[in-house]
Amino acid sequence: MTDALVLITRLADGAPSDSAAELLGAAALLGEPVAVVPVAASADAPSTDAPPAAPDSLAAALGALGAARVLLVAVDGLGAVATTPEVAALAAAVAAGTESGTAPAVVLLAHTAEGREIAGRLAVRLGAPIAYDAVGAAREGDRTVVRHSVLGGDYAVDSSIASARDGEPVAGPLIVTIRPGAVGERAAAVDARLEHLAASGGALHGARIEAVHPAAATGRPALRGAKVVVAGGRGLGKEGFGVAERLADRLGGAVGASRAAVDAGYVEGAAQVGQTGTTVAPDLYIALGISGAIQHRAGMQTAKTIVAINTDRDAPIFDVADFGLVGDALEIVPQLIAELDARGR
Ligand code: FAD
Repeated sequence: MTDALVLITRLADGAPSDSAAELLGAAALLGEPVAVVPVAASADAPSTDAPPAAPDSLAAALGALGAARVLLVAVDGLGAVATTPEVAALAAAVAAGTESGTAPAVVLLAHTAEGREIAGRLAVRLGAPIAYDAVGAAREGDRTVVRHSVLGGDYAVDSSIASARDGEPVAGPLIVTIRPGAVGERAAAVDARLEHLAASGGALHGARIEAVHPAAATGRPALRGAKVVVAGGRGLGKEGFGVAERLADRLGGAVGASRAAVDAGYVEGAAQVGQTGTTVAPDLYIALGISGAIQHRAGMQTAKTIVAINTDRDAPIFDVADFGLVGDALEIVPQLIAELDARGR
């Protein structure tokens, strides 16, 4: 079985970030999951990165998520230079695999702003093909087939790489960014083998990170990757937007919004869902007072279950909703919360 490398980024406390389970689950569909964890090469370098991980606990945590091997790659500039250290770490992992005769078939990253940039830079550095914003992946024979959701989610498109272009073999591996929340499969827990590697250093070019300011804690899950998202639109009005927040809190979900709601100042820009906001694929997406413009649907249409509440029975959001209620969200949502309370759910 060929290796499927996964870039593991870490939270402020050093633990694997939320995307790790999904990426390793996707990797297990394609080969042997190998977690690549960049770590700072020199402890005295100024860095905003997570604290040095305790290797054994990191290996245990990633093994529980299905990583057969955990590759700690020491790299210069981590947390001090944006994205190029991660590119260097992945390039070193690919090179090490190729030299030892186990060239990886794929490299998987989360389709986040950071993941997209790392993927693009890595593709250029390796001269390797890239499949962007995947919602699924499978191995068919010796080919990796990647699924994309396009044109606002109306079509699913499968892509794979040709083995040759202009008579020349296409360099691998295939680099794939996975849309957070889109892949439901999870890998079985294993005892991960811990390995160490050093990325050859040198000056790393890239934007220098002066400081990191974490967003104020809300106690809610992050929008990207949340299992439940309650999103509000212009129809709620500024005073009414709180019903979306109350329902989100009642369901333990994240708060999302249409661009119109963001532009009107009901909620901060980070909550925007859609073409120019965050793309989400939760188990449950509740749209309150959102018309369902194509730019909004592009960011939520792959949610597993969509519930819409809108006063306009012809609103396009109902075209993609599994359950629709025609009515005033400001009246319905408080009743819904009261009913949940009454049922003790
Ligand atoms: P409206 O379209 O004004 O809809 C409000 C809805 O609320 C209506 O359907 C109305 O019937 C309903 N309503 C009113 N009162 C109530 C009530 N009391 N209870 C229930 N329902 C009620 N939009 C995004 O969301 N995300 C994006 O990323 C995005 N990117 C864009 C990129 C480009 C290049 C462009 C041109 C546009 C983009 N837009 C995006 C904007 C998009 O086209 C729409 O304008 C926007 O999504 C509309 O937001 P809305 O549904 O909240 O508002």
